[in-house]
Amino acid sequence: MLVLPVPCLFDNFSYLLVCEVTRACAIIDPSEYYPVVTTLSEHQLRPQAIFCTHHHRDHIDGIKEILEEYPELPVYGHESEQGRIPELTHSLVDQEVVTVGQLRGEVHHTPGHTRGSCLYHFGDTLFTGDTLFGAGCGRIFEGTSQEMYHSLARIIESFAPEVKIYPGHDYTRANLEFARSLEPANNAVTQRLEQERAVVKTTEAWTPSDLALELATNPFLRCDKPAILLASQNIEPDIDGTPGQVFRVIRRMKDNA
Ligand SMILES: [Zn+2]
Repeated sequence: MLVLPVPCLFDNFSYLLVCEVTRACAIIDPSEYYPVVTTLSEHQLRPQAIFCTHHHRDHIDGIKEILEEYPELPVYGHESEQGRIPELTHSLVDQEVVTVGQLRGEVHHTPGHTRGSCLYHFGDTLFTGDTLFGAGCGRIFEGTSQEMYHSLARIIESFAPEVKIYPGHDYTRANLEFARSLEPANNAVTQRLEQERAVVKTTEAWTPSDLALELATNPFLRCDKPAILLASQNIEPDIDGTPGQVFRVIRRMKDNA
């Protein structure tokens, strides 16, 4: 299995997921036509499917032109995104199996950012769209903070710490600045922030994080930690202190940051 990140627009990531045995390939979230087809031709790949994590324009805008070149391509997305991804041909439900050559993956419905947001899990790889970012999570546009909290809690429960995280955007540095404001004494956050500041981002240099690193540094996965509770109490002193409520408060803090 091979994953090729394709930087698109200003800070989006599309990905090519390649079965190295059959050379079958899927496009995850084709934000733009040109960078995607350039990467396909550089690697002499012919796509066999498009997988959408959600309906936002900056994740699907390349689909129309790609279909002009590959009209037979099936386009997959969660069933609640039906009608909102115009080119959708295959509606998926939670836990449905999808394949790319000999690779077998599973869809996980994670509402919150949009009501049909979903993740695609293949082996040690998780495509998280705008649900989970490096050191952050997506804004809650359609769901409730409870739904988003449960979607993130489900990620923690469902996947091994080694699973690699491939998000729809790279906001990691700004997210880590926010994380450090909440947890100034968290050395893992400080260390990751220093690494982010030191690195010059190029496609070649970009590497995914893993769930273990997110558990150590991502405040939205750390709502049960005393330091995050304390930060939320500074904003809302009467908070009941359950992780779901802590999540609601720090998500709002990040929205206003
Ligand atoms: Zn989005």
